[in-house]
Amino acid sequence: MTSFDGDRSEPGEEDDEGLHPVRSGAAPWRPPAVELATLRLAGGTACDVLIVGGGITGAMTAEALTRQGLSVLVVDRAFPGHGSTAASTAMLLWEIDTPLVELADAYGFDKAVSVYRRSLAAVRELGALVAGLGIDCRHAPRPSLYLAEAGALPDSLAAEHAARQRAGLPGEALDRGALMARFGIDRPAALVAEGSAESDPVRLAQGLLRRAFERGARFVADEVVRYDSLPHGGAVALASGATIEAGTIVLATGYDMPDFVPSRLHRIVSTWCIATPPQAAGRLWRDRALIWEAADPYLYARFDAENRLLVGGEDEEIVDATEREARMPAKAARLVDRMRGLQPQLSFEIEAAWTAAFGETADGLPLIGPVPGAPNLLAAYGYGGNGITFSFLASRMIAAWVAGEPRAWFEDFAIDR
Ligand SMILES: Cc1cc2nc3c(=O)[nH]c(=O)nc-3n(C[C@H](O)[C@H](O)[C@H](O)COP(=O)(O)OP(=O)(O)OC[C@H]3O[C@@H](n4cnc5c(N)ncnc54)[C@H](O)[C@@H]3O)c2cc1C
Repeated sequence: MTSFDGDRSEPGEEDDEGLHPVRSGAAPWRPPAVELATLRLAGGTACDVLIVGGGITGAMTAEALTRQGLSVLVVDRAFPGHGSTAASTAMLLWEIDTPLVELADAYGFDKAVSVYRRSLAAVRELGALVAGLGIDCRHAPRPSLYLAEAGALPDSLAAEHAARQRAGLPGEALDRGALMARFGIDRPAALVAEGSAESDPVRLAQGLLRRAFERGARFVADEVVRYDSLPHGGAVALASGATIEAGTIVLATGYDMPDFVPSRLHRIVSTWCIATPPQAAGRLWRDRALIWEAADPYLYARFDAENRLLVGGEDEEIVDATEREARMPAKAARLVDRMRGLQPQLSFEIEAAWTAAFGETADGLPLIGPVPGAPNLLAAYGYGGNGITFSFLASRMIAAWVAGEPRAWFEDFAIDR
């Protein structure tokens, strides 16, 4: 058996300087320890679908594919959920990093609206899935509050609000007075909208994996070191020397995108987060809204189920783990300053601080679909701040591909778009 919990680091997860290649410091997720039946491979085996990566993307995909009755193997070189999923603040926003007006400028209004509506539906369907499967992951619907930058014009969000209204998306515009009255925040404008949610990302991933394993999926604790495309599927070689053949291989390796997945849109950035101890209930802002800012670098914040304040952002294009870690104290201080400017009544003692890498794209949309030139390799990458919403969308699209039922709109997320 392989057991894993939210606190552990495993041998082999750290580099020469003792830093985890994906993240350092720990988010306050403490799921109960879980045991998975682990398949020890000697030689080779085969399955319908091999999923490489047991983070939230791999977990959602394994759940979807086992529900279709397929034989599924999940391989991960670390404990499932210990990659960027363990660092996530898990604000499940339907609003995309790229505003609707900007996405419409890039791809036309209809396509931009279609993407936004799919994102809204993904958050709703994920909530229904969690409820249907009875996963205890502190999942809850939340409104989002999208703030204009401090020095912006009072009508800076007016065009975005008008575009969303035209698209039939939820949301209400707040002027400075209304924002101050409802949330005690002094900014020129904001948009408040229903339809988003929050979760404990590690419990969510573990809960989904557990369902998949109950339906017969198997876990292989190993590292994929080589991929081969076959006429009727694909094959991987593992660090242990074993091999796995599959009808379809799903790449869900998080920030670690193999070189053969080409994308001119993809880049790796670093992000920083802090958590405070639980706040006194009387200090929380209204409706426990998920707050995020129209600023670069941006800031976002929410409360967890124990009323800890989670604040993140300050993203920079840094890939080196040592450099990322070295900036932690300055970034934590900056996150506190910025948050104190919004909600000075909160307590800003830092209980946890962590930093991690994640992949994002130039247009804010994920890369989901067949790897060009290798139709039996399906990949899901580049999620940005909407990671978990897009992971869910990816899992549904991958399930449709495997069932031989891709849709025309899948092209909106094509890796070579
Ligand atoms: C600090 C931070 C805050 C975030 N906040 C939010 C948020 O508020 N809302 C939101 O929606 N998203 C957020 N995101 C993004 C979101 O968390 C990620 O998009 C998501 O967790 C990615 O999940 P994943 O399963 O694709 O990758 P990961 O969780 O990184 O999992 C990939 C797995 O693949 C394994 N792996 C990699 N290569 C191999 C190999 N060769 N062989 C075997 N195994 C391999 C790794 O060990 C790992 O377990 C945040 C991200 C970070 C870093």
